[in-house]
Amino acid sequence: AYLERIKELDKGIQAFIHLNEEDALLQAKDVAEKIQKKETAGLLEGIPVAVKDNICTKGLRTTCGSKMLEDFIPPYDATLIKKLKEAGAIIIGKTNMDEFAMGSSTENSAFATTKNPWDTGKVPGGSSGGSAAAVAAGFAPLAIGSDTGGSIRQPASFCGVVGLKPTYGLVSRYGLIAFASSLDQIGPLTKTVEDCALSLQAIQGPDSMDATSYKERSAENYLEEIKGNIKGLKVGVPKEFFQKGLHGEIAKAIDKSMKLLEEMGAELEEFSLPIMDTALSAYYIISSAEASANLARYDGVRYGYRSEIFEGINELMVNSRTEAFGKEVKRRIMMGTYVLSSGYYDAYYNKAMMLRRKIKDSFSKAFENYDVILSPTSPILPFGIGEKMEDPLEMYLADIYTVSINIAGLPAISIPCGFSNTKLPIGLQLIGKPYQENQLLKAAYHLE
Ligand code: GLN
Repeated sequence: AYLERIKELDKGIQAFIHLNEEDALLQAKDVAEKIQKKETAGLLEGIPVAVKDNICTKGLRTTCGSKMLEDFIPPYDATLIKKLKEAGAIIIGKTNMDEFAMGSSTENSAFATTKNPWDTGKVPGGSSGGSAAAVAAGFAPLAIGSDTGGSIRQPASFCGVVGLKPTYGLVSRYGLIAFASSLDQIGPLTKTVEDCALSLQAIQGPDSMDATSYKERSAENYLEEIKGNIKGLKVGVPKEFFQKGLHGEIAKAIDKSMKLLEEMGAELEEFSLPIMDTALSAYYIISSAEASANLARYDGVRYGYRSEIFEGINELMVNSRTEAFGKEVKRRIMMGTYVLSSGYYDAYYNKAMMLRRKIKDSFSKAFENYDVILSPTSPILPFGIGEKMEDPLEMYLADIYTVSINIAGLPAISIPCGFSNTKLPIGLQLIGKPYQENQLLKAAYHLE
């Protein structure tokens, strides 16, 4: 049924780069047999999952939204994919994304521009725009995204779905094509908070293949814990997240949700978290620096696209990279190389690392007083396709509320909290302490 729906409607949305039709149908048959034999079912038995195309799927093309990896067929499954399969999930297809996850609108894909299912003249957000649109359009009940600076939460907000960026280290990154390794994290996009909790249960866990994954298995049962009471839950509201630049209708919708939380017994308090200006600059310096190192491997020799026009190895590398990388990826590589180069390293990269420490400390201090922090997910409503393509700085501003969370490695969730007058979805963000996803999910569940 999901495949049929995709075939009928995805032409107008372009959430998928490619489908996994044959395999998905075979797997579905297996599940049906299992059910008939009354064998025990996995956590996600038979659930179709749409996976962002920067996560390696064995034997299934994984492009990262780039011409560079247009024909790349991974010889292995990411740990995430292994876990999904173990839980009984069915990989239904791979979703569109900004090239190498760099962007906030899914317009930087080398293949297509995904449309927002609520208004196809608008962007779905990015970089996991294909995944968010797939869930919003009813193409899959669960999609997987990656979040380096907001790429799960911002598209979830733009598409009116739930999106969780787990604590750095909770979900293995093995097999996720790296953008900025110290910030990247995989997470679920779903229609409901319950689905989100269930999916997180299935995909989290330590992994010897990822040195940054956490070491002990958590005893958390996310699904059970979300129904707990939120009476006395301490919610911090950082006033800097509600100042200039925030769309009036978003402010209104968030305000309504805050009142609801209060009525349910949560204790809200305004406080100051003056990190906004610095976080965005620090994020774009650190993420670009790491990207420039991570993307050095695409040289046209080992794997990836190779130019046909070259004389000698130097020209081979230059031409391959020139022809296969898009504009935004080139911009990030140049920025990243610049801030890492001798003479500029101290002025930019080192400063950004100092800011990173300060931002982390600011959050730790805030969490001495609060269980969760509440803010809008995005300062703006979904914008028109093409509207911000000529001005990268304006595009970067769309991430102002999300990037600091990655810098600090914290978990955060975006949940729908109403619509604008123009019927576009609005998202609310809850930020939690490290490995306290259960608190986020609980608060989110009560707000749904
Ligand atoms: N939009 C941000 C960027 O372009 C975040 C991307 C992401 O989280 N992958 O870097």
